[in-house]
Amino acid sequence: MNIGILALQGAFAAHEQAFSDLGVSVTRVKTPADLAGVDALVLPGGESTTMSMLLDSSGLRTPLEIRLHDGFPVFGTCAGLIMLSSDIKDGRRDQRPLGALSVTVRRNGYGRQIDSFETPIIVDDGAQQIEMNGVFIRAPRIEEVGSNVVVLSMANNDPVLVRQGNVLAATFHPELGGNGYVHQLFLEIVEEIESPRHSKMVRN
Ligand code: GLN
Repeated sequence: MNIGILALQGAFAAHEQAFSDLGVSVTRVKTPADLAGVDALVLPGGESTTMSMLLDSSGLRTPLEIRLHDGFPVFGTCAGLIMLSSDIKDGRRDQRPLGALSVTVRRNGYGRQIDSFETPIIVDDGAQQIEMNGVFIRAPRIEEVGSNVVVLSMANNDPVLVRQGNVLAATFHPELGGNGYVHQLFLEIVEEIESPRHSKMVRN
């Protein structure tokens, strides 16, 4: 399994560390050729307006959209979630989301005063409750979810971890202060998509 991480901009090094803690090495993706060589992609936190422009200038947008359409597994955190969404509120006018996740998301949705905070995140996977520290940094707020989106965790009455088939996304930063659970979950989703008949996990 070859996991890629979009390394145009933003917090990709912490994701590399989180995967390395799980014994998985990742490939930095900056060009269409890099993208063609990976089986899955992480879209990290950062600045979604800049990321949107760099997706265009790097030539990555179209090949990424094509792969997303074919069920390519992706994991977006914070700005990465904004990029994957179908509808951005308070975005820049020229900012274009990838539309792979049916959510309406508001950039910097927790306001200026509390634009960074930490709160406990609990994921109930059916068998057990997993608790982790949720680090929110100028975080987006999910305002609406489509009927095909599974909410895996809520915090302060907002969805904070969601899944839609091949797309996993968090408004917080599981690569900071997490316990590896969300990264492990993504690896299981990638395995499930690569070989569905052998999967031991059915999460939606
Ligand atoms: N507020 C940033 C944006 O709009 C996201 C912040 C983050 O990724 N930590 O893109």
